[in-house]
Amino acid sequence: MTTAKESSSTQKRAIHRTTGAFRCLSCFKHLSPPKGATLYTCPKCDYEWRVAWFTPEEPRIRGPVWESYEKLNQAKMADKGEK
Ligand SMILES: [Zn+2]
Repeated sequence: MTTAKESSSTQKRAIHRTTGAFRCLSCFKHLSPPKGATLYTCPKCDYEWRVAWFTPEEPRIRGPVWESYEKLNQAKMADKGEK
């Protein structure tokens, strides 16, 4: 039996190159808000996100802006006529 233990150096670099950008949680588009912005609207899907800055270079999505989120949802629900 041969034990070929080939540990090829997996070049699995941490995919941490997305500094200055995050992904829209709705459409997954890469967004790069202006530095220091606390709100950012995705130009693609119109969802508005609250932005937190981990470091001055690294924005993170904190969550949706509920008011705009609800507006969008209500617009969607209006289609269904749900009550
Ligand atoms: Zn989006």
